[in-house]
Amino acid sequence: MTIKTLCRRLGAVLLGFAGTSAAIAADPLNVTGDKFRQLEELLPTPNTYRAASGAPGHEYWQQQADYDIKVSLDDDKQRITASETITYTNNSPDTLRYLWVQLDQNRFKPNSSGNLAAPVDVESIAPDTIPFRSFRREVVSRDFQGGYDITKVADARGRDLRHTIVDTNMRIDLPQPLKSGDSVTFQIGWEYNIIEQKALGGRSGYEYFERDGNYLYEIAQWFPRMAAYNDVSGWQNKQFLGRGEFALEFGDYRVAIEVPADHIVASTGVLQNPEDVLTREQRARLKKAETAKKPVMIVTKEEALENEKDRATARKTWVFEAENVRDFAWASSRKFLWDAQGYKKGGTDTMAMSYYPEEGTPLWDKYSTEAIIHTMEVFNRYSFDYPYPTSISVNGPVGGMEYPMITFNGPRPEIDEEDRSKRTYSRRTKYGLISVIIHEVGHNYYPMIVNSDERQWTWMDEGLNTYVQFLAEQEWEEKYPSRRGDARKIIEYMKSENQVPIMTNSESILQFGNNAYGKPATALNILRETVMGRELFDFAFREYSQRWKFKRPMPADFFRTMEDASGMDLDWFWRGWFYTTDNVDISIDAVKHYTVGTKDPDVEGPWKREHFEEEPESVTKQKNRANKMTRIVDGKPELADFYNEHDEFDVSNADRNRYRGMLDGLEDWERDLLKVESNVYVLNFSNIGGLVMPIILKLDYTDGSSEELRIPAEIWTRNAAKTSKMLVRGKDKLLKSVVVDPHWETADVDVENNHYPRRIIKSRLELFKDEKARNLMKDWQEELKED
Ligand SMILES: [Zn+2]
Repeated sequence: MTIKTLCRRLGAVLLGFAGTSAAIAADPLNVTGDKFRQLEELLPTPNTYRAASGAPGHEYWQQQADYDIKVSLDDDKQRITASETITYTNNSPDTLRYLWVQLDQNRFKPNSSGNLAAPVDVESIAPDTIPFRSFRREVVSRDFQGGYDITKVADARGRDLRHTIVDTNMRIDLPQPLKSGDSVTFQIGWEYNIIEQKALGGRSGYEYFERDGNYLYEIAQWFPRMAAYNDVSGWQNKQFLGRGEFALEFGDYRVAIEVPADHIVASTGVLQNPEDVLTREQRARLKKAETAKKPVMIVTKEEALENEKDRATARKTWVFEAENVRDFAWASSRKFLWDAQGYKKGGTDTMAMSYYPEEGTPLWDKYSTEAIIHTMEVFNRYSFDYPYPTSISVNGPVGGMEYPMITFNGPRPEIDEEDRSKRTYSRRTKYGLISVIIHEVGHNYYPMIVNSDERQWTWMDEGLNTYVQFLAEQEWEEKYPSRRGDARKIIEYMKSENQVPIMTNSESILQFGNNAYGKPATALNILRETVMGRELFDFAFREYSQRWKFKRPMPADFFRTMEDASGMDLDWFWRGWFYTTDNVDISIDAVKHYTVGTKDPDVEGPWKREHFEEEPESVTKQKNRANKMTRIVDGKPELADFYNEHDEFDVSNADRNRYRGMLDGLEDWERDLLKVESNVYVLNFSNIGGLVMPIILKLDYTDGSSEELRIPAEIWTRNAAKTSKMLVRGKDKLLKSVVVDPHWETADVDVENNHYPRRIIKSRLELFKDEKARNLMKDWQEELKED
């Protein structure tokens, strides 16, 4: 999902942990302070399921969950009635005595753990304040009768199965233990009230359009889903508290969705019965869309506006099938316009489709389907070819959320209610829409196909996806205003107080968007552009995606694959960026200029004298001279001797003889080095931020030339706090100034100590006027007059 949705959901809750950062920031895993210490002792030990290379092991396994679901949507009561048959295949080596099923809708029961344990913060923005929408949620969630009514849990033959509901999970006790390699089939029946998304937040729900009295439904986390069972955590049955998303199994789905006959349904999967639910004309338009060069309207605006007016009493059932997906979502409304365009390239052969109410025009008809196709075009290059037959973007109440083949995206233009044809939108809405579609469609790759455990690790899908999103945005137009990805955009966060490492469980993350989206996305971009180079990074990142598509990777699998495929030791990078809250702040503290001492007294004597004479004269001497002081030796020359004639810089023949003797004792190559006329510079750096990083230098010379030098991070291996580098340059190359990180590519949080010599900092001083006290007498003037 997007952070915007998340903020709406969490309201002001996010910022309320002042003062805890120091304790959290202390990294218990880096006890020695050795920033290049290898990660083996911190990562799980490789085994036959997960190899040391980061690839799936030779005995890798995962469970399979297949679903056959019938669901009916009640448009009058905004309620779902449904039943499902789940076939669960135990591919693990273990025998299972019970199964865990996720009941996500129970999150909306008034007494859910998610509701009871949700902290509130009325100080985050200003003392004693809370956003309207956050308070609305507090009020509405108290009374809303959400959550499942489970009407049946039975085996394949209809016999009741013993089950225990534990908040958002349900344990089903099996009459016979499920052995390795065996399958079990069972049925669940349920009903629930659909939430009003704008009131309760969340990743699905309905939107009511007051003007025409219609509803638009975005339906997700709507069916009891198998909890994931895996080699790392056993059952992933951590409760759904609202933030940590989902851990799911792949499977095949057949879903029959019964809705009012005038509704249009968008769904995961491929429509199996178009002749039952679409008109002949709509089917013809879909056929045409397969090879069209631009989106084709399947339901036009005029048709959608016509649909809005009536309320069909008849019902229609849309049947969809989906193969090898980890979840299933759908949307339904009589308000939908629908456009489509086929996209076929490499291994991808898919129909990109958008569904939106007329309130979404003119933005949605222009950008949505284009953005879907653009996303696949770019993600395919960096990951793998999009494998599913459809890719959908739906406009409704949800700000941004992803499901296999289908995404929910929020931004819409503003409508002038006086004249509804007048529609405008802000720059933020336009790029917000394109970005959120790229983001949510991108989630098809991470985590819908590269199936990481979202309940545990938010960064594994949000961070990786946001990273490729940045690449896709930059390929949309030259000056695309990407919010995340560029190193300089993460600096304020990296400097901030309330931080936890990226490697933190989803529920405990502070500054969620920056931590789980912005920082990992930026770290990967820096890894690509600055540390590894594009070729090595792209190869390794693609290798990770290919290795783990349709499988379940863990963080170590990512870290290990990136090193395994590139041949680079990146343990320092993972340790610094993912396991600590250190930031990058490299300072250039001093530059020393050397020329080689010749040891020849006739050269060195005058050199020393010259430097001695360059020293400022002492003030005592200056004032004595000004006072025309007379000295005793001036009046009595007999007091002078040898030392009054010769100083320590004078060269004697004895000095010369010693020099020649010394030369005789040297090897030829040693004598040659004494004649080197190079300029030698020693640059001293300190690491103030704690993160070790490459040192990128721009060296400017007095002759107007300039040079860029990229020193790998390994320069910090022996001392991560201070380091020095020697540069040997020709005799005419005189260094004028040095800049560290001249392109701002490392997220260095203080660029002023990157300059040698230091420079004067330019800024603007903003003047402001003191506020006057409020004059109550003036406010009351009118009322007083009337009295
Ligand atoms: Zn997301």
